[in-house]
Amino acid sequence: MFWNREIETIERKDLEKLQLARLQKALAAAATTPFYRKVFSDHNVDVSKVTTLEHLQDLPLTTKHDLRLSYPDGMVPISRSDIVRLHASSGTTGKSTVIFYSQRDVDEWADLVARSMVATGTTRDDVFQNMMGYGLFTGGLGLHYGAERLGAMVIPSSTGNSLKQIQLMQDFQTTVIHITPSYSLHLVEVIKENGVNPPDLTVKKAYLGAEPYSEETRDKIEKLWGLEAYNSYGMSEMNGPGVAFECVHKNGMHLWEDFYIIEVINPETGQPLPDGEEGELVLTHINREAMPIIRYRTRDLTRIIPEECSCGRTHRRMERIKGRTDDMLIVGGVNVFPSQIESVLMRIPEVGNNYQIVLEREENLDRMYIRVELYSKMFHGDLNELKRLNQKIGEELRALITINPRIELLEPGSLPPSMGKAKRVIDNRKI
Ligand code: ADP
Ligand code: ZN
Repeated sequence: MFWNREIETIERKDLEKLQLARLQKALAAAATTPFYRKVFSDHNVDVSKVTTLEHLQDLPLTTKHDLRLSYPDGMVPISRSDIVRLHASSGTTGKSTVIFYSQRDVDEWADLVARSMVATGTTRDDVFQNMMGYGLFTGGLGLHYGAERLGAMVIPSSTGNSLKQIQLMQDFQTTVIHITPSYSLHLVEVIKENGVNPPDLTVKKAYLGAEPYSEETRDKIEKLWGLEAYNSYGMSEMNGPGVAFECVHKNGMHLWEDFYIIEVINPETGQPLPDGEEGELVLTHINREAMPIIRYRTRDLTRIIPEECSCGRTHRRMERIKGRTDDMLIVGGVNVFPSQIESVLMRIPEVGNNYQIVLEREENLDRMYIRVELYSKMFHGDLNELKRLNQKIGEELRALITINPRIELLEPGSLPPSMGKAKRVIDNRKI
């Protein structure tokens, strides 16, 4: 099923032609903004000389720091009266940054989201419950407008208030939900506590995004809820959700290349990497009037899947995000991504739905504590069983990450539940 078959299955050479034309337009617009005028002049960039897509690689990269430098509107080439909306990043790290949209930008974004939803088989007959935050965060309104464009019935329930969420799902026969993976793991437990078997609900599909999560977590969510979960990727700098989305094959996310030019670079050297190699994703937004952003360093680590997808879409796919360059933990000299720890925890059947990684500095040594909630059936009085489990988790983690963490096994509900993006890591070493 396609939303716009022509553009989704466009031949690569036609796609590249379209990309170049849009890139040239975006560069010309960017060059009129105070921020890029200075950057281009400092780097001797003449945008009129960009006549191939490869030329893009000679242009300087844009960082989150640059967005802060240009705050509030140093990257905006259009007049204030043509702007219809702003969003801000959730500020996972540092001060938030602001993104602007014209009416055309908002419309095009809604179209892109509708395209993404259709790629997963959603139709105008679906009931879509949007449990992402509404407001400055793009997750709520982004999917909202796309789902309306598609013609689905939207329930804008936003985050939290789990009992209300359940009631809405039951009363209006929700078929598709949009939710963070961490909140979905919390909510499914609340559903069970209320005497409802989650697979008996009408929910058939979940869009999971806004935070890194492992394939094991997806499997777990699918089983607990009895649904199909699709990975959804985006960030406010590139509009919000709808940048990349899985199709029905659930095997990597199609990056919509008529809106974004994709590069993957070595995060240390900045050198472009070939398809298939893992590195930092760099995106150029080539279809936004109010805020063209050139070669944006997403800080997200992934790789492009070189093979074509059997769905027929010609836009390339990227693999699940492994983590952000800035959330890599260095513990006693060893590099670890929280997602690696998560993948081990989530394939252990006794492990429940929430965990936390705590880092401490004790006697000049880094120490990692992993606080893991178990299912309540594990607490029936057999301490030896818990001891064995503690050992097993420790060994499996050690085998993968070569660190010796201390494991704390907790009853369900011991850790603070997540309603939006989960805070998994507590690093007390810097205090
Ligand atoms: P920030 O978190 O930088 O304040 P956003 O709220 O726009 O800004 O979040 C965007 C970030 O969320 C992405 O750069 C990425 O790190 C993360 N993210 C979004 N979707 C996914 C996903 N499906 N998988 C992994 N990470 C994701
Ligand atoms: Zn596909």
